[in-house]
Amino acid sequence: MTFATLGLIEPLLRSLETLGYQTPTPVQAQAIPAVLAGRDLMAAAQTGTGKTAGFALPLLQLLAMEGPKVTANSVRALILVPTRELAEQVHEAVRQYAENLPLSTYAVYGGVSINPQMMKLRKGVDLLVATPGRLLDLFRQNALKFNQLQTLVLDEADRMLDLGFSEELGNIYKALPKKRQTLLFSATFSDAIRTLAGQMLNDPLSIEVSPRNVAANTVKQWVVTVDKKRKPELFVHLLRKSKWKQVLVFAKTRNGVDALVEKLQGLGINADGIHGDKPQATRQRALDRFKASEVQILVATDVAARGLDIEDLPLVVNFDLPIVAEDYIHRIGRTGRAGNTGQAISLVCADEVNLLSAIETLTRQTLPRQMEHDFEPEHRVPDTDASGQVVKKPKKPKKPKTSSGGKRNLGKWVESGDASAPEPSIKPVRKVPVFNTGPRKRKP
Ligand code: AMP
Repeated sequence: MTFATLGLIEPLLRSLETLGYQTPTPVQAQAIPAVLAGRDLMAAAQTGTGKTAGFALPLLQLLAMEGPKVTANSVRALILVPTRELAEQVHEAVRQYAENLPLSTYAVYGGVSINPQMMKLRKGVDLLVATPGRLLDLFRQNALKFNQLQTLVLDEADRMLDLGFSEELGNIYKALPKKRQTLLFSATFSDAIRTLAGQMLNDPLSIEVSPRNVAANTVKQWVVTVDKKRKPELFVHLLRKSKWKQVLVFAKTRNGVDALVEKLQGLGINADGIHGDKPQATRQRALDRFKASEVQILVATDVAARGLDIEDLPLVVNFDLPIVAEDYIHRIGRTGRAGNTGQAISLVCADEVNLLSAIETLTRQTLPRQMEHDFEPEHRVPDTDASGQVVKKPKKPKKPKTSSGGKRNLGKWVESGDASAPEPSIKPVRKVPVFNTGPRKRKP
């Protein structure tokens, strides 16, 4: 199968040739003809599957072939995304695909001044990428009209709901023309997403593709168990021992990111961090420098790293496990792309055992464990397996207390959390796998 056989026009085929895309990915093979035919779409696909081109290519073709010229402050196609980084990234992809088409594209998001965005929208744009909050601000300030809107894309819809955008989505929905094409992409399909899809989509075609990296098994994954307080030390030890060159590190909280970056920099290690508290320009600069290999270690929270597309990343380290198991798949999806092999190492302490168990259930595998000499944990991480159970060891009879040994709780799982709050995407750990777990009945 080629992009030409999917019905794409020559200017798009030329862009794809420049980008070196030869064969459509499964999500592209399914989405492109359906979108060209005007269908609504509900697609289970995430970063790494080629979903962006899956919706952007046919969308651009429809904009180029159909509909009137865009008028002042209007927009003909809207792509809603959860974060600024994803807005930038999707817009960059769209810009490359649209290189040979006479279409205007733009991205708007919060955290930067609204005035230049209002100016830019005056002439209208054919395709706008936007985060929900800033889009509504622009709409309320009459910088945007939706009367010409023909297509709406909700990209990473689950993440938009996780980030608390459901009210904004509801308000945007009310402002849009009823007659339009709608495409919804989501990594997971919770009841909330299905409700949203029910409201927004009209007789959608359902598409489901497995997360490429997990399915293709191109990512070697393992766990190193360690005590929580020794994680930074272990990280530095592994970095030096294994001579890691470029590493993307995930930490749970903003404070966690800052603390690790500070520690690494203090040791003369070339590290930078990104999280939601940092201004957009700073985040972008850190990312660009990491991509250009000017920064060796980039530490990120899940929200800040969402949608990051870094080619050929050899290694992802989970300094903390994610609170939401699906984020593990997103995280390790940064490596092992396009058939390359990648590595994903998770530093796991005893109080993360339930998070580990949820990940193993979701990915249907028991992650191999290792211990590093001199870093063997005092608090043993209880055994887990892919059935979602934390394997309980039979209790040993209590020993009589000694004067010194009473406080040590070897092998006991101690519940504790970071004092600082996680980034706001966090939702409760779901024990029920919702993605890639075999055949599933669809709602009609
Ligand atoms: P996405 O899942 O949209 O974030 O895309 C992941 C990466 O795959 C991006 O770097 C795309 O440029 C790349 N990509 C998407 N489609 C193809 C394709 N058909 N052939 C090669 N690379 C692709």
